[in-house]
Amino acid sequence: MGMRFFIREIRRMLQEDVPEGTTALGEISRRGMGDPFKVLIATILSHRTRDENTNKAFQQLFSTYKDAKELSEADDRQIQELIKPSGFYHVKAKRIKEVSRMILEKYKGRVPSDLEELLSLPSVGRKTANCVLVYGFGKPAIPVDTHVHRIVNRLGFVNAKTPDETEFELMKKVDRKYWMDINELFVRFGQRICKPVIPRCNECRLRSVCRWYQKFGRQIYEKNRPRGI
Ligand code: SF4
Repeated sequence: MGMRFFIREIRRMLQEDVPEGTTALGEISRRGMGDPFKVLIATILSHRTRDENTNKAFQQLFSTYKDAKELSEADDRQIQELIKPSGFYHVKAKRIKEVSRMILEKYKGRVPSDLEELLSLPSVGRKTANCVLVYGFGKPAIPVDTHVHRIVNRLGFVNAKTPDETEFELMKKVDRKYWMDINELFVRFGQRICKPVIPRCNECRLRSVCRWYQKFGRQIYEKNRPRGI
């Protein structure tokens, strides 16, 4: 099965589930707040937390500070206080300040739109850099977070040990025209249906082609299935 098929089926499932749903980054990008600097900071805030916490921390931070200059001069403790809802706020505040300072000093306050330059920023890895390209610049890239990594490996579409390996495999296998859709759709699918610990396979249209389901899910699902269905 190709990516076109997975994208079509996942879209159908999400339409039936929560038609208007979107990820925190998708929302920030769509509402026109998605200038690349804000997307970069939102991606840092989104690390290991839920979308609603990212949104809250983002709103609080940007209602007080508006750009890299203001954030690079901000008081550490105030940043921590504002972003508290996102968790790990000491580390995240430090990253936000470092990255703001570097963007101001090296790039005159403008986030670079080149992958290698983004990767040279402090604490910016491939996932964050690719999120900035997709959600901030509208450039084709494949941000691979834990949802994307888990799902494409469960499906058997790739066979990779780390998110970076998954990204490289996806870039080889998937036509560029689908790159921009992957993160948004697979993250939402991972939040709603193909969940990390107990995926809702009984509601999934991909059961017949999913390697994980054929190997493990079938037994779990069959065992719990009500009689007569
Ligand atoms: S069948 Fe289950 S494991 Fe496979 S993609 Fe669907 S929800 Fe995920």
